[in-house]
Amino acid sequence: RYASTKYDVVVVGGGPGGYIAAIKAAQLGYNTACIEKRGALGGTCLNVGCIPSKSLLNNSHLYHQVKHEAGIRGISINGDISVDFPGLMSAKEKAVKQLTGGIEMLFKKNKVTYLKGEGSFVNEKTLAVKPIDGSETHEVEADHIIVATGSEPTPFPGIEIDEERIVTNTGILALKEIPKRLTIIGGGIIGLEMASVYSRIGSEVTVIEFQSALGSGMDGEVAKNVQKFLGKQGLNFKLGTKVTKGVRNGEVVNIEVEDVKSGKKEEIESDVLLVAIGRRPYTEGLNIEAAGLEADNKGRLIIDEQFRTKHPHIRVIGDVTFGPMLAHKAEEEGVAAAEYIKHGHGHVNYGNIPSVMYTHPEVAWVGLNEEQLKEQGIKYKVGKFPFIANSRAKTNVDTEGFVKFLADAETQRVLGVHIIGPNAGEMIAEAGLALEYGASTEDIARTCHAHPTLSEAFKEAALATFDKPLNF
Ligand code: FAD
Repeated sequence: RYASTKYDVVVVGGGPGGYIAAIKAAQLGYNTACIEKRGALGGTCLNVGCIPSKSLLNNSHLYHQVKHEAGIRGISINGDISVDFPGLMSAKEKAVKQLTGGIEMLFKKNKVTYLKGEGSFVNEKTLAVKPIDGSETHEVEADHIIVATGSEPTPFPGIEIDEERIVTNTGILALKEIPKRLTIIGGGIIGLEMASVYSRIGSEVTVIEFQSALGSGMDGEVAKNVQKFLGKQGLNFKLGTKVTKGVRNGEVVNIEVEDVKSGKKEEIESDVLLVAIGRRPYTEGLNIEAAGLEADNKGRLIIDEQFRTKHPHIRVIGDVTFGPMLAHKAEEEGVAAAEYIKHGHGHVNYGNIPSVMYTHPEVAWVGLNEEQLKEQGIKYKVGKFPFIANSRAKTNVDTEGFVKFLADAETQRVLGVHIIGPNAGEMIAEAGLALEYGASTEDIARTCHAHPTLSEAFKEAALATFDKPLNF
């Protein structure tokens, strides 16, 4: 038998869901351990997702601005402007290291035991931990277990990933050189963010999407505009197109596609192929059978509204269960799961989880969109304000997009906010607060917003749901 250690709470997975749950449980007074097999904390998000992608997005945007907009901003450049790709990648690595290291510090500060290894159920109270350093497997017992093992890229049947030429998010964030031609299967947020990065630094990018429109989940009007502005930036889209084959031949990838409607076939040669068709729950190695945990047909672990499996002391949060696969959703659930253990109640408002696409301009939304309101038969009013009429956006020569409010036709209560624009991802927080507090658009329009800021467009769009905007 292995040596066994007993904890109040054991969390499996050190991503945004798991590490936050572990810290919160420890803060609530529980003797807590977190098992993570990656060798670094922060999960998909910090290591191969949110953070590295945002580093590349930010720095490639800066490059693009300097290269193409310096003149209009009164900056003259003597000499060549070029991308130092290894430098871009090492800036990304540095951001990732600092943040993952930061979580280790937080574990120490909060007295969370970090077990570097793979956790797998022995029974519903016990997990075996197989250390990544090759030392002997040991067991941990726990009164409460929180499973937060996250997700992995959904494989594309018949396409073999080598993370060099045919890549997932992991490979695309660690390429050795800028591909001349990049083809992306999937026009979702991850696909479009990576398309933006590589097109800014010189790749010829083609996005292949099975659906006939981009931006599923977005408000219809917003989605149309997204396609327009990304098209203007030089991305090629093949919509309503299915991929039938993708094989590596030496240093190139040969892809076969077919128009969904006409059946017309086409061959595409590319230097790199990114498969970004979605993500699926990840439970490999966890041995859920030993604990009798059940998954649905999409692999999502089945839980009740308090995240409990059929064993009430085993809870599941984040990407490995239901709901949007987003880091902040996993974090909210992490806090709530620890609070449920302690107090029997916790709080996540699933109607108020923002989504952000970090292209330029950014796209952000929260609450219901027009299509959903129509479907639910809710009477609503629309208020819109374009950034072209916002003083700060004009000053910054950054005027693409608009703020769109959807408010209840009678009460003006905010039902949804949809933004395309610079810093939309920051601005959407104000909409989240409005939704959480049940604010009306009049509450927002009567709140003083600093001048000159982009947030004045937010205020004026709220005003436009019940009165005339002032600056447009
Ligand atoms: P994960 O972050 O996947 O963490 C799970 C962890 O559990 C992993 O580290 C894994 O190694 C570990 N693990 C699994 N099984 C075991 C086991 N048996 N034993 C021990 N450890 C185990 N979301 C956003 O909100 N904003 C963004 O901008 C954003 N950008 C993204 C960009 C990309 C390219 C990708 C791929 C994702 C992005 N996401 C973004 C999604 C976000 O990364 C996930 O929603 C989030 O990481 C989910 O957190 P989690 O804790 O549920 O799981």
